[in-house]
Amino acid sequence: MRQAVLLTPGSIQIREIPMPADLKPNEILLRIHNIGVCGSDIHVFHGKHPFVTKYPVIQGHEYSGEVVNIGSQVKTVKPGMKATARPQVVCGKCPPCLRGQYNICQNLTVQGFVANGSAQDYFVVTEDRIVAVPREVSFEQAALIEPAAVGGHATKRAGDLKGKNVVVAGSGTIGNLIAQFALNRGAKKVLVSTAKSDFRLDIARQCGITETANLSKETFPDAVKRVFGDEGFQVGIEAAGAQGAVTDLIAGIENGGTVVIVGVFEENPVVNMGFLGEHELTVLGSMMYRHEDYEEAVRFIADGRLKTAPLITSRFPFENYLDAYHFIEQQGDRSLKVMIELTQN
Ligand SMILES: [Zn+2]
Ligand SMILES: [Zn+2]
Repeated sequence: MRQAVLLTPGSIQIREIPMPADLKPNEILLRIHNIGVCGSDIHVFHGKHPFVTKYPVIQGHEYSGEVVNIGSQVKTVKPGMKATARPQVVCGKCPPCLRGQYNICQNLTVQGFVANGSAQDYFVVTEDRIVAVPREVSFEQAALIEPAAVGGHATKRAGDLKGKNVVVAGSGTIGNLIAQFALNRGAKKVLVSTAKSDFRLDIARQCGITETANLSKETFPDAVKRVFGDEGFQVGIEAAGAQGAVTDLIAGIENGGTVVIVGVFEENPVVNMGFLGEHELTVLGSMMYRHEDYEEAVRFIADGRLKTAPLITSRFPFENYLDAYHFIEQQGDRSLKVMIELTQN
């Protein structure tokens, strides 16, 4: 079977490897159909992901597949079903794991970054991480469950959003899905901002996020004033991984507000701690998701509460994996989710 391997930053090869060996009782063999390319994959491709220092890397953490075989004790899925799986490999023994916070396992490895990911025709996952996907959800949509679950988790971390004004800094797939979740969770108004081009803001509007701001055309305070008037905003979610976004959210949020950090930062940002203290801001992290976030993302995609079609802007066959990355580099923020296709679906 084929496998895409990122040998060193900037170099991807397709190679032949043997099929996975016999399944253990709790394992499932998936035939991979779609893999979404993620901003953090690009960080790894550039050798600039803060937590990935060892190469080669087998990427692929946003994926969908068909169950082709199951171990003797697997009950969640049967051959022929659509499925996706969480890429988190956790220890189950550390204090966060024992509290149920396995998404922040102290020994966490993530497939596609430090552990091997799904960039190959067939991939083995364990039953604790598998999530069945209903038939009406396409393989492409199923590959968006991973970023959707990030959005679901981040908006839960933000606390009760009902009646609150929310700013999401960052208009990529994650920012878009966070904003869609915030609207679904009862936020009064949600503003998506970007420091880049209008392309992704157009997609946000196609997804029902009506309030958008291009900070190359207006200042952040002006945009906040235009959208929220005197009400301001009470929750900020950082999904850009950018110093400017952190600075804007902390400087602009209502006193006592909550800022959730989701973005991956290539450089360690500076935070005005004195200002944060004096305004009693809460700044908290959000790390990936837990199983229930995946299950919720499946439901929200299946019933149309999350709009996914506008997010997918290009598709590349598996053989052209490297071309997909070059395309993303050239297009910059004039593309959004790029899908790798392993099958004809
Ligand atoms: Zn991702
Ligand atoms: Zn653990």
